[in-house]
Amino acid sequence: MICRKVKANLADLLLDPESVSVDVRDHLKECAACHQELQSLQATMSLMDEWHAPEPSSYFDSKLAVRLREEQRAEPAGVLERMRARILFGSNVHLRPIAAGALALLIIIGGGTYADLMTSSHSGTPAKISATVQDLQSIDDNAQVFQQLNSLDQDDQSDSGSSANNL
Ligand SMILES: [Zn+2]
Repeated sequence: MICRKVKANLADLLLDPESVSVDVRDHLKECAACHQELQSLQATMSLMDEWHAPEPSSYFDSKLAVRLREEQRAEPAGVLERMRARILFGSNVHLRPIAAGALALLIIIGGGTYADLMTSSHSGTPAKISATVQDLQSIDDNAQVFQQLNSLDQDDQSDSGSSANNL
């Protein structure tokens, strides 16, 4: 019965033994089981005291400051501006035609639906061209746009190359 009382007061026995009643403390001297339990808890507590959170590396503060400054400086106006900057100045140059094509596709899709609305409102009859033909036509258009974009991109690169030579 007193063993249970000891277990209920283990925390107090660890942190503030004086607050625990004398009979409980006397029991610890006689009962090996309770004494053992208190000792293992004490060992755990002392291990916890020895444990320290790992210190950050000495470069952590300066690295963080640099990153923060970069983020502050690189705050473009909006999503489109960010996309444009990404396409024009992005490090992944090989993705530039793809990104430009994706932008062009967005414009084509947007313009296409607009044109559809215009024609259907004028004629009043649904378009007779099948969906497949329309798809093929749009693919053809897109291919042309891709080619144009690619040639633009190549011109751009040769221009910058020649200007580099001039320098
Ligand atoms: Zn006991």
